[in-house]
Amino acid sequence: MSEPDQETEAGGPLPPLQMTLRWYAGDEELPVDLLLPADPVGPQAVLPALQKLVNEVVDASVKALEATGRSVSCKAGCGACCRQIVPISDFEAHAIADVIARMPEARRAHVLQRFADAERQLAAIKPLDDIIADINGPDRYDFAVAYFGYGVACPFLEDESCSIYQDRPLICREYLVHTPVERCSTVGQGGIGVVPISRASKALFRMSTITDEAPSETRVPLSLVPYWVARHPADFKNTNGSGWMVRFVDAMMQSDSEEEAAWQRAKKKAADQASSPAGSMVAPG
Ligand code: SF4
Repeated sequence: MSEPDQETEAGGPLPPLQMTLRWYAGDEELPVDLLLPADPVGPQAVLPALQKLVNEVVDASVKALEATGRSVSCKAGCGACCRQIVPISDFEAHAIADVIARMPEARRAHVLQRFADAERQLAAIKPLDDIIADINGPDRYDFAVAYFGYGVACPFLEDESCSIYQDRPLICREYLVHTPVERCSTVGQGGIGVVPISRASKALFRMSTITDEAPSETRVPLSLVPYWVARHPADFKNTNGSGWMVRFVDAMMQSDSEEEAAWQRAKKKAADQASSPAGSMVAPG
């Protein structure tokens, strides 16, 4: 970043805002120092701060898990969870599209071909718009289990590793298991223990609409990012970084209660059907 004072005098961007967010990992208070844009920006511009927040919350949550004698069982070369449906927010979808757009041409062509392959596989099973509707609908937990059965890997998964590790969505950062990895291929049958981490990724589903009279949530399947972005140009209202963080905290508080309600609905339905969707990556969501 350029020297802030010089840029301000020259009429350039304002120097970044510093904010300390007091978060919790379990019962432990976790102050997280963030740098945020002072100028009006779209929500994509605060993603680096949100990624830092989630990284620190995840680290603290893993330490809390290890203090109980358990440990994370995720390991390099295991991408079972990358075959689940990965719902991301509208502005994360645009940020991921930007990641692809910045790739060198040959790499970009390769990645877009992988997305085209995933679209073709999914479209052979179900219309793509129906998939997007299902992951945004009230029965999204059941659909997540069905989607895992489709066996379509995230287009960024290569050699069972994430090829955009530094840029991966928040939900991918938050998803860690502490049960044997063999169980990760049995989504929908229970038995997958997910490390308890406050799910900031869920708040992002409504962060861009939190101030509207009737805030809505948007979940974009990661495997359909180019398809979705082509049909939904970015038209977010700009506000400064602290404004976005206020929206994020508001959305976090709302999404907690809504997640719980949706999860309870899914559990009741699963109990009625004598099969549990516990362990799905989209739970709660
Ligand atoms: S972005 Fe990376 S971590 Fe997330 S589902 Fe895709 S391959 Fe897996």
